[in-house]
Amino acid sequence: MEKKEIKSLTIEELTEEMKARGYPAFRGKQIYQWIHERLADSFEEMTVLSKDMRKELKERYRIARLEPVQVLVSKVDGTRKYLFALEDGNIIESVWMRYKHGTSVCISSQVGCRMGCTFCASTLDGLERDLLPAEMLEQVYQIQKDTGERVSHVVVMGSGEPMDNLDNLLAFIKILSGPGGLHISQRNITVSTCGIVPGILKLSEEGLQITLALSLHGPDDQVRRKLMPIAGRYPLPEVLEACRTYFLKTGRRVTFEYSLVRGVNDHPSHAHALARLLKGQQGHVNLIPVNPVRERGLSQPDRRQVDGFKNILEKSGINATIRREMGRDINGACGQLRKSFLQKRG
Ligand code: SAH
Repeated sequence: MEKKEIKSLTIEELTEEMKARGYPAFRGKQIYQWIHERLADSFEEMTVLSKDMRKELKERYRIARLEPVQVLVSKVDGTRKYLFALEDGNIIESVWMRYKHGTSVCISSQVGCRMGCTFCASTLDGLERDLLPAEMLEQVYQIQKDTGERVSHVVVMGSGEPMDNLDNLLAFIKILSGPGGLHISQRNITVSTCGIVPGILKLSEEGLQITLALSLHGPDDQVRRKLMPIAGRYPLPEVLEACRTYFLKTGRRVTFEYSLVRGVNDHPSHAHALARLLKGQQGHVNLIPVNPVRERGLSQPDRRQVDGFKNILEKSGINATIRREMGRDINGACGQLRKSFLQKRG
């Protein structure tokens, strides 16, 4: 019999499982807390449970665990990049950053990605598979254990498209923010999407307080389609309408991410068009000079061009920030570290 993965179960699911096995409901809660609050990796550690119960649990369930295979630490700002091995041998990457307001972990939601954005390294080899809720949680848990510091913010901006793995993402958010676990405030959780409309609409119905980030990267469908194949599937007016719905249902402002690529979407006319597009939309723009990916042959605009782009937005009444680059010396954007690791491993 295949063992059920227990770290992916919500507190309600786990309590139901234990009740169904004839145990009192509080046992479910207890096990849940050992896994998600005390970050236990084995049933042996759960010493409040009887030996017999631990044995039964071990026979029926497995506890997913990630194995750190490499950690790179930036000498500039302490940013840490992690490569983790999943139990099936797949490799994923996560990043830990320290800010003034706390510490933030950027996690992957899939192994690889099938969205095909032209500037992104994560999608070069397509999608391998979805991550389980446990495998998303483990990135946060392992990093908190390794740094010894409480993780305060989580961003789902690593490899993968979270809306392409929505059910697992929702379980992950519930476990990460709910009672009995790390209890990370939903307001400190950000999910970034390339703009899958049904996913955004479903998310807006979930009664969550997380931040939605939309990868925009262009002021119109023509420019967007050059960078993001998904733009051909969901036209911009529909995507922005879904973002408006998200704001109306949750009261949370949307972040618009805009990676600046030299000669593609960085012209002042693009900035003006972007300002027109976002007029009246509740949210702000995060400008990211594109991280060059060797396989892609795209480069970033120079600093003056980036500042000029931001000024145009601000003069038009659109809030804009330029993303501070972290871990410059251990660089490689989304999926680049994993890619170079896999290439070396052969
Ligand atoms: N699939 C999701 C989340 C993962 S990517 C999404 O598309 O939003 C997180 C962000 O990093 C996205 O805005 C993505 O477009 C951006 N990104 C990916 N590769 C990049 C690169 N080389 N330079 C700058 N931004 C990049």
